[in-house]
Amino acid sequence: MTANAPITQDVLTLPRKLPEGGKANLVGMTRDQMRQALIDIGTPEKQAKMRVGQIWQWIYQWGKRDFAEMTNLSKSLRADLQQHFEISIPEVISKQVSEDGTRKYLVRIAGGHEVEVVYIPEDSRGTLCISSQVGCTLTCSFCHTGTQKLVRNLTAAEIIGQVMMARDDLDEWPVPGTRNTDEARLLSNIVLMGMGEPLYNFENVRDAMKIAMDPEGIQLSRRRITLSTSGVVPEIARTAEEIGCLLAVSFHATTDEVRDKLVPINKRWNIEALLESLRAYPRLANSERITFEYVMLDHVNDSKEDAHRLVKLIEGIPAKINLIPFNEWPGAPYKRSSGNRIHAFADIIHDAGYASPIRKPRGEDIMAACGQLKSATERARKSRKQIEAEAGMKS
Ligand code: SAH
Ligand code: SF4
Repeated sequence: MTANAPITQDVLTLPRKLPEGGKANLVGMTRDQMRQALIDIGTPEKQAKMRVGQIWQWIYQWGKRDFAEMTNLSKSLRADLQQHFEISIPEVISKQVSEDGTRKYLVRIAGGHEVEVVYIPEDSRGTLCISSQVGCTLTCSFCHTGTQKLVRNLTAAEIIGQVMMARDDLDEWPVPGTRNTDEARLLSNIVLMGMGEPLYNFENVRDAMKIAMDPEGIQLSRRRITLSTSGVVPEIARTAEEIGCLLAVSFHATTDEVRDKLVPINKRWNIEALLESLRAYPRLANSERITFEYVMLDHVNDSKEDAHRLVKLIEGIPAKINLIPFNEWPGAPYKRSSGNRIHAFADIIHDAGYASPIRKPRGEDIMAACGQLKSATERARKSRKQIEAEAGMKS
């Protein structure tokens, strides 16, 4: 670990409740927070826990946003809820559908910020790639999101709201009183691989994922949720203990020299420190393999020596290595490795006994691939600037 490494986390986190006078959003509250909120508006303490369970099911199991539909609550309670609370999720501004069925949504959150969410249908599952921050404070040199200056942490409501928004679009809320069957789910998996570093927004990510896993909530198994981190070492054990989902790590290099350049957080927590925390993860989380993500950058990190070094480094860790052909973006300082180099790399890993799937880029025609999530926000920002400029000219 390098002392005083120049990585800071200067991010705005919004308060959970709206300012005085506004209605508080029930979405994103933990069960305890919702219980307290109900007591605060006069629900008797003895009843509060049961009411939380009922409201929780309406919101997260059946996707209802209107208190009037919550028919197992008394009329007066529904009126009280209506007066004090709202059930609000991010607004979808646009939706693009790729030739391969991938859907990319642009959603607007408080403050006029925008984030992207991607739904990837596959034969046996459907994965939603969600964002945890607007932009990212880290500056991985191959990542488009990392070049975006503006950063704010998403609230728990905005994080779980992305899942609720997608379930609206896929039209897969079960009829009240029934449950989803696991086999038939369109949205069966969540990956925290959109914009942002989830472990720099730990509490909100945790609270949102707890809702996704809740048996009276969205009911996804913790093995169907994968959190991807660039390597925020102190939060990795916490992820195991407090979330318990699967872990993916953006490894991307086999020497500190190269990783310092690609994933600058490596200057703070180097490969050795990272591997140490990863070794402890499966036991702590009682989970299976860790996914090592490895972006294939032509002649930067894709040699046969790299592949051999990688195998040595991860020895003893139950792992799968996900090779990601670099997704280029305008002005990117790298090129995608050739197919030959990627296959040669994959063979070495495979021969060492590890699964080494090469990630198939999805939604390329709509710029929905990993690391490309930025352009729409930037465009929107530019157009706001133009609007301001025009307004300035008129006055
Ligand atoms: N901040 C987290 C999660 C978001 S990035 C993290 O870094 O892990 C999700 C994955 O996409 C990461 O492995 C990231 O390194 C990778 N990625 C970023 N930009 C990419 C690009 N241009 N091409 C391919 N993969 C990219
Ligand atoms: Fe942030 Fe992940 Fe992109 Fe790095 S790869 S800049 S951590 S979003």
